[in-house]
Amino acid sequence: MSKTAIIIGGGIGGLFTGAILSRCGIRSVVLEKNAIIGGGLQCFRRKNRIFETGMHVMGGFEDGGTLRRICKWLGILDSLNIHHIDGDCMDEIRYHRSGETFRIPSGREAFVERISEYFPDEAHGIKEYVDELYRLTEEVPLFYLREQPAGITMHSEKFTWAADRLIAYYVSDPRLRELLAWLNPLYGGVEGHTPAYIHALINVLYINGASRFIDGSQQLADALRRVIEEGGGGVLAGQEVTHIDVADRVAKGVVTATGQRFEGDWYISSVHPLEMLRMVPQGTFLKGFVRRLNEIPDSYSAFSLFISLKPDRLPYIDHTCYYMEDFGEMWTQDRFDPADWPKGFMYMTPPDARQGEYATRLLVHCIMSYDEVKRWETTRVGRRGEDYEVWKQDCVDRIVAKLGNIFPEFSDMIEDIYAASPLTIRDYYNTRNGAIFGYRKDCENLIFSQLPVYTKVGNLLLTGQNINLHGICGVPLTAVNTAEAILGINTIVNQINNAQDS
Ligand SMILES: Cc1cc2nc3c(=O)[nH]c(=O)nc-3n(C[C@H](O)[C@H](O)[C@H](O)COP(=O)(O)OP(=O)(O)OC[C@H]3O[C@@H](n4cnc5c(N)ncnc54)[C@H](O)[C@@H]3O)c2cc1C
Repeated sequence: MSKTAIIIGGGIGGLFTGAILSRCGIRSVVLEKNAIIGGGLQCFRRKNRIFETGMHVMGGFEDGGTLRRICKWLGILDSLNIHHIDGDCMDEIRYHRSGETFRIPSGREAFVERISEYFPDEAHGIKEYVDELYRLTEEVPLFYLREQPAGITMHSEKFTWAADRLIAYYVSDPRLRELLAWLNPLYGGVEGHTPAYIHALINVLYINGASRFIDGSQQLADALRRVIEEGGGGVLAGQEVTHIDVADRVAKGVVTATGQRFEGDWYISSVHPLEMLRMVPQGTFLKGFVRRLNEIPDSYSAFSLFISLKPDRLPYIDHTCYYMEDFGEMWTQDRFDPADWPKGFMYMTPPDARQGEYATRLLVHCIMSYDEVKRWETTRVGRRGEDYEVWKQDCVDRIVAKLGNIFPEFSDMIEDIYAASPLTIRDYYNTRNGAIFGYRKDCENLIFSQLPVYTKVGNLLLTGQNINLHGICGVPLTAVNTAEAILGINTIVNQINNAQDS
């Protein structure tokens, strides 16, 4: 216990990095600005109902799955209450205008078989496409918790293609091309820009099996906090870091808004890199790096509904649902047109501990461009003004009307509705433009949006969704990367693998 890491940001990245380091004997102190820890894992409670904010569907928890193995090694797996979604239909995509519904199963073979039943003329291309997805993931050893090879990693040409180009290479029916991009909202897919490898990682992650937390994702944040505390450290809520003290390219301490100073051997920023830039003295980083951090484009934002349902009205649905108004709009959902927003959305019923036949809550996420709320961007939570409240109510009404296309008399099923806009996301996570997945990865300039965990300040490292990949798989894997930057390459991966073997 001779070394200490100070971690800025108590979201998924900060907590996983802190827990991994704690498990390896490095005391970790995590500083979180919000009153409740967890970032994307945080849940809020209204009238005794729990709502998840940024973690609804997860991959990697099936037998042998990456997340399962990491959590097992951390000693928290048994404390997590996880429900594996119905394998015969993990996702359902409904096209309103044509009246068609596609039910996607989990499992590689089942997936190929079912999609081929829907599009028999494309069966050969579908099989080749899925083989290619799995092959592309083999180019990312960390995805399977394999050792990182020494030296420069070479990638195949298709790895850096645009995701839509990869799909179009294997199948020709425009409806199928679009259907195969149904997970776009889970990685912020943008036509011509989102790299094929990200599409492959997310698709394979979910095709291998999807899960949900029973009674909310806060339990994972709390379990990680316990690991950090057992290692002699702590997770402190209500501690917004305002300054990182840097001299001669060495971080010396951090100061929080409460005036407290924390010192350690290592400093890890698990907040948006632009937020980190605000904390360091001017001149800490080269101008080119600062410009780059400012110029990397953002992923899109979202408008969310958290609906509390009246008892015994809406049956519980054991899969994630995607509603699309029509074909041809899967890649253009972020282009906001007030006349026909929303073009589509994702919705789901989270499970309770004693889940019966009926759901108690419904969550809805609609992709939305930050431009739509720009006119209120100088306002803060609770004080955004009457015109904002009117606009927000109009958004709620539009989504509820479309839910009425799916569930007749849906309005009558509602007990309460709470809504969050891109501004809520921006202010809650401190993420520019309310970008749900942070920086956007772009196949047109991959290196530009790919940040290393190291910085020019020797003992200041980066982690979190902006560095590699977002979400329940990407962020913990980057935490492994960041911890290995301190402990040595492949040390954590080997420990995790050895623990499974023993
Ligand atoms: C609406 C929505 C739905 C999502 N659904 C899913 C899903 O179903 N599955 C999935 O895998 N992913 C999902 N995601 C993505 C996932 O939530 C993120 O990828 C993940 O939370 C990113 O983790 P992180 O640690 O990088 O950032 P966060 O979890 O955002 O953590 C950053 C933390 O830093 C804190 N912070 C910021 N500034 C400071 C400061 N100055 N001092 C101290 N603390 C600070 C923030 O308060 C926050 O707690 C969703 C995201 C959103 C927004």
